Amino acid sequence: MVQRMSRMMLKTLRDDPADAETLSHKLLVRAGYVRRASAGIWTWLPLGKKVLENVSRVVREEMDAIGAQEVLLPALLPKEPYETSGRWEEYGDLLFRLKDRKGAEYLLGPTHEEIFTLTVKDQCTSYKDLPVVLYQIQTKYRDEARPRSGVLRGREFLMKDSYSFDTDDEGLAEAYRLHREAYTRIFERIGLDYRIVSAVSGAMGGSASEEFLAPAAAGEDTFVDCPACDYAANTEAVTTVVPPVEPADHPAVEELDTPDTPTIETLAEFLGVPASATLKNLLVKVDGKITAVGVPGDREVDLGKLGEHLAPAAVELVTAEDFTDRPDLVRGYVGPQGMAGSAFRYIADPRVAANTGWITGANKEGTHARNVVCGRDFEVDEYLDVVVVEPGDPCPKCGTGLQIDRAIEIGHIFQLGRKYADAFQLDVLGREGKPVRVTMGSYGIGVSRAVAALAEQTADDKGLCWPAEIAPADVHIVAAGKAKQTELALEVAEKLHSAGVRVLVDDRAGVSPGVKFTDAELIGVPTILVAGRRAGEGVVELKDRRTGEREELTVDEALARLS
Ligand code: ATP
Ligand code: MG
Ligand code: MG
Ligand code: MG
Repeated sequence: MVQRMSRMMLKTLRDDPADAETLSHKLLVRAGYVRRASAGIWTWLPLGKKVLENVSRVVREEMDAIGAQEVLLPALLPKEPYETSGRWEEYGDLLFRLKDRKGAEYLLGPTHEEIFTLTVKDQCTSYKDLPVVLYQIQTKYRDEARPRSGVLRGREFLMKDSYSFDTDDEGLAEAYRLHREAYTRIFERIGLDYRIVSAVSGAMGGSASEEFLAPAAAGEDTFVDCPACDYAANTEAVTTVVPPVEPADHPAVEELDTPDTPTIETLAEFLGVPASATLKNLLVKVDGKITAVGVPGDREVDLGKLGEHLAPAAVELVTAEDFTDRPDLVRGYVGPQGMAGSAFRYIADPRVAANTGWITGANKEGTHARNVVCGRDFEVDEYLDVVVVEPGDPCPKCGTGLQIDRAIEIGHIFQLGRKYADAFQLDVLGREGKPVRVTMGSYGIGVSRAVAALAEQTADDKGLCWPAEIAPADVHIVAAGKAKQTELALEVAEKLHSAGVRVLVDDRAGVSPGVKFTDAELIGVPTILVAGRRAGEGVVELKDRRTGEREELTVDEALARLS
C-alpha cells in the first residue's frame, strides 16, 4: 500500500521536546518516529517502526549469510541461571528484578549468555552438533543509571545478540571473524560511519573483544583516533579495576575526612565533581601507586555507592605529574571534557581535568575484575599502566597527530571462551569419545540505538536525512496545491508503488505547501517529488533531500528515474 499521510497516525512537532539533549532525540520525536512512554522507554510510531524494521532486516540478512540461525528466547527469565553465572549479583542495580505470584524471582534479560548456554546444553550433545551460531533480535532491559538521549540509551531497547558455540579455539576464532565481517557489512549497508576498536569485555568475561563505534558528538564513549590511518583505540581497552585498600596498610597523603560512610555530597566535594555525577572507576594513588578503584562488573554506580565502596579507604587523587616518569606505562589517554558517567570513564583530579581533560588508564592485558568483592578476591598489587595522550600526540602506527573524539557504541563482539560453559558445564561428546568443554563467543548490535546513531550522523539543520537502505520510504511525494496536484501525486504514487518503489505521499487536505515541504525535510526520505505549479502540464519537481538539488521533469521522466 502507498503510505498516505492523510490516513497515517503522524504528528510532527515544530519545537524540540523540552528534555531533549541530543539531535537524534529531538528530531526523532519532532518528526514523529518515536514517543516517550516513560524514562528510557519508547514507543515506535509508524515511521520509526519502519526504520527499525529496515535495520533489523539488514542485520537479519547478514547474520543469516554467515550461517547463524535465528531463535527467540524469552525476555522474562528465571533467576537461577543468573545466580549460577554470578550475574544476578554482579549486575547490581542494572537488572530489572521481579517476583511472580508465588514469590519466585525473575529478571528481565539484559543479555542472554546464560539461557543460550542452557539451550545449547539441552540441544547439542556431540561434537557433530557443533559449531552452531544462534541469534535473536529481541527487547532487552537494563535499568540504566542515566537513560538519556532518547533511544540512544533506553532502559528497554532492541538488540541483536548472537552466540557461537565451538569445540576448539580455532572454531571460536573463525566465528568471531565471521561476525566481524558481518558487522562490517551491516554497518556499511545501513550507511553508518564506524570504527572498530579493541575493548575489554566488561561483565561478559572472556578475552578478545572489539567494539564498533559510530563517531558522533552525542556519543558517551571517547576514543582516540588517527585522521590519517585506521588506528583507533577505545578508553575501555585500557582499563583495569583494582579494589580499594584499608588505610592502615597504605598510608595515604590525602584522606577522605569523614568518620562514616561518605555521602554523595562529601564524596563529590572531595572529588571536586558535581553530586549528580555517575561514575564507575576512579583513578587514585594508593600507597603512592596509581590505581583505579571502582565497582567490578559492567555497571554504573553513583557517587553515593562508590563512597560506601571506598570507605574507609584512604585515597590520594592522581595529578598530571604522576604520569610523567613511568617508563613501564602503556598507552592510555586523556579524553576531552565531559564527565557523564559512561562505564570506565575515569575521573581524575579536577586540577588535572581542568588542564588536560579526563584521564583513563590501562593495564597491558586489558583485563579487569569480574564478579569480584574488593579485598576478598583481589590483592592490591596490580597497578595501572597509564600514560597521558593528548590530541596531536603521534599515532603509534603512522605518526600523524591523534584526535580524541566522541562515539556511540553500536556493536560489541566478544570471544567469551569457556566462562559460561564452565559455569553450566556445557560439554559435548568429542571425537575421541570423551567430553569436550565448549568455547563461546557473544556478539551484540544495538538495533534501536543504531537508528539514533544514524540520525545523529546524517541529520542536518532541516531534519532527518536517512541513508536509502533504512529510510522509511524511497520517495516522499508532496501534493503542493489543490485537487489537481493531489490527483497527480496519488497517480504517481500508485505507479511507483507498482514498480516496487516505497512511497510516502503527503496528500493531506488543508495543509499548506510550506508546511508540507518543511515536514518532508524533517522526515528525511532521500528523494522528494513535488506535484506543484506545473502539475497541469504533467511536470513535477524532484529534489534530493541531502544536496537540495532540484530538477523539473515530466511525470514519465520522473517515473523512469525513480523506478
Ligand atoms: P554501553 O557502554 O553504551 O552502556 P554496553 O557495553 O553496556 O553499552 P553491551 O552489553 O555490549 O552494551 O550490549 C551490546 C550492544 O547493545 C551495545 O554495543 C549497544 O549498541 C547496545 N546497547 C547497550 N545498552 C543499550 C541501551 N541502554 N540502549 C540502547 N542500546 C544499548
Ligand atoms: Mg552499558
Ligand atoms: Mg560499553
Ligand atoms: Mg559493550
